[in-house]
Amino acid sequence: MPTSWYNILPDLPKSLPPPTDPDEGQSRLKRLEEVLLAHCLEQEGSEERWIRIPDGIRELYEQAGRPRPLIRARRLEEKLKTPARLYYKAEFYSPTGSHKVNTALAQAYYARKEGYERLSTETGAGQWGSALAYAASLVGLELVVYWVRAVYKWKDERRHFMKAFNARVRASPSKHTEVGRGLLKEDPEHLGSLGIAVSEGLEEAGKDPRTIYCLGSVLNHVLLHQTIIGLETKLQMEMVDDYPDVMISCLGGGSNFGGFVLPFVADVIKGRKIRFIATQSEAAPNLQGEYRYDFADHAELTPMLKMYTLGHRKKMQPIKADGLRYHGAAPIISLLRHEGYIDTIAYPADESYVFEKARIFTTTEGFLPAPESAYSITGAIDEALRCKETGEEEVIAFNISGHGLLDIEAYREKLGI
Ligand SMILES: *Cc1c(COP(=O)(O)O)cnc(C)c1O
Repeated sequence: MPTSWYNILPDLPKSLPPPTDPDEGQSRLKRLEEVLLAHCLEQEGSEERWIRIPDGIRELYEQAGRPRPLIRARRLEEKLKTPARLYYKAEFYSPTGSHKVNTALAQAYYARKEGYERLSTETGAGQWGSALAYAASLVGLELVVYWVRAVYKWKDERRHFMKAFNARVRASPSKHTEVGRGLLKEDPEHLGSLGIAVSEGLEEAGKDPRTIYCLGSVLNHVLLHQTIIGLETKLQMEMVDDYPDVMISCLGGGSNFGGFVLPFVADVIKGRKIRFIATQSEAAPNLQGEYRYDFADHAELTPMLKMYTLGHRKKMQPIKADGLRYHGAAPIISLLRHEGYIDTIAYPADESYVFEKARIFTTTEGFLPAPESAYSITGAIDEALRCKETGEEEVIAFNISGHGLLDIEAYREKLGI
């Protein structure tokens, strides 16, 4: 297992545009400094290429089953009759179901070290809330999760799962915050949104000095923690004396994609060739949006980040891969896209195309992917089929960000099983 995370900031082809404040209103930058963990804030702008993973976090990673396997998809290759060699990174072996534990464990560890007793956060699809519930319980912290009511209402199993780790889970908007009470007065059955849940999580942390707020994607330090995925993959590729021509993963805010590819982007900046493909939904193709400054949340509580965005108030239709439904892509990924390092593709929002591809993977390799990860698989299968036509023996590496064992209902609906 790697002993340091890789920080791409000093190696980027251009320096990363810093977060800014809007022209009017309170300073969000100052506020961010108050709400982020000191360790994470330092990492956010660090120019150190390698940042040592504290022993305590390495132990937690081991506890969570790291390093995770890189698997040669031989059965899938045979099924597709492709000359390409396919490898997938198995982040689905996560105890809570996704790669998000890689940063949840780091953030919980730092929170404990900085003397906090409680964490607060929001969750949309439920994977981030689950990962942080797990991490908080392992290091001995309490957690309050504000969960978008529209999802809270139907994902019973994820809710019970978080509670099994002693997390307090509240449907958002809730009566526990001022923001929430205001919205409930207007509509007692308000279905909420991720932006509202962020506001409640921030308010919760703001009123209690023992509580700190945590974020699960988009920011530089989150991508940094996730580079454990790509660094392991690199060592594993070396062990089998192979190297990718194409790397593919799904992208919502950019943490699993970034974690998987950034250590390889470093090689490409130095002259090697790899094609990086971020797969998305047509419901939220943020990498095809505009490259400009925008807020990271609906309520405009965060600073403005330079990123590819669809607009922070963009209405997006619901999809099963809810984790991919975010308006902006991480500033690091956005810069790399702008400089021509990253390709993207968006699949139809009705999702039957990606669920069919996920089924080919499940019935050959035997793992049920998260709906989000089905987008990685679709990208990999389409590339493998292209190689079949051209006869190219390319090496295709893809990341499977999570398992779908709590998403059976989505499979039933989309595949009619
Ligand atoms: C949250 C999530 C994603 C999308 O978030 P990124 O930050 O883009 O990685 C993808 N897959 C799974 C399983 C998730 O839980």
